[in-house]
Amino acid sequence: MAAVSSLPTRLMGKVAVITGGASGIGECTARLFCRNGAKVVIADIQDEPGRSLCRDLGPERATYVRCDVTDESHVRSAVDAAVARHGRLDIMFNNAGILDDPKPRIVDNEKADFDRVIAVNLTGVFLGTKHAARVMIPNRSGSIVNTGSTGAVVAASGTHAYTCAKHAVVGLTKNAAVELGRFGVRVNCVSPFGVATPMTEGYFKLRGEELEKKIDEYATLKGVFMKKEDVAEAAIYLASDESKYVSGHNLVVDGGFTVHNPSLG
Ligand code: NAD
Repeated sequence: MAAVSSLPTRLMGKVAVITGGASGIGECTARLFCRNGAKVVIADIQDEPGRSLCRDLGPERATYVRCDVTDESHVRSAVDAAVARHGRLDIMFNNAGILDDPKPRIVDNEKADFDRVIAVNLTGVFLGTKHAARVMIPNRSGSIVNTGSTGAVVAASGTHAYTCAKHAVVGLTKNAAVELGRFGVRVNCVSPFGVATPMTEGYFKLRGEELEKKIDEYATLKGVFMKKEDVAEAAIYLASDESKYVSGHNLVVDGGFTVHNPSLG
């Protein structure tokens, strides 16, 4: 009888670009992708954490490129770097994101702050999708995974620009899925609720709230705290061939938060 390999190989031979891969969900996903046989290009603006992650993962598996996702020339270069180094691009994880400063009242929000959040969370995803499509279309295959949020499905009060950007990411995902499907390119979204990362820890601290308490209050899965790994597992599913007939989908990973109607118990 043939021996069954115990090594995870869900992404064997695949090449991924991960924006915002130097921290939080992106970093966790980069580790999971590599453990499953992928080669990754970490595209971020945090040089030292990005380089350190790549040293940890091994230079043959992981490369860091400085990439501000709001700058089209950077995004183009990050995609081209993956193709130049590994000959192909199979997975684009458009994950970089930032939150608004917590200013709950819309009248206190400045246009410049609004524009900044839209530029990273929406324009960055548009640019990542555009440049991934550019190299995936001729190969007639590829999986683009965009990071949404529960703020892409319901209001995330006090984060006006974030909620707008994330809702729009779902729209962009659907449009791109329709267009690129004929070229064998799938486009999906993964939408987490709250997990502890530098982004959320800073935000909840500024609001004087405890992240885990808030999650437990709203998620239907009581006492089961979501982790970065839970989002990474959803991302690898969408990135891999396991989801080969899934496109245009928004996979919400939220412990039932967005389906819960508290007034009905
Ligand atoms: P994080 O702060 O740990 O990671 C975000 C990464 O994006 C950082 O490495 C940061 O340097 C990078 N980044 C920021 N601006 C960038 C830019 N202009 N160009 C390139 N990289 C940039 O936060 P996270 O929680 O891991 O967030 C990852 C994604 O998950 C974001 O899109 C966020 O909106 C989404 N999300 C997170 C949560 C959560 O609870 N943590 C919930 C819903 C959605």
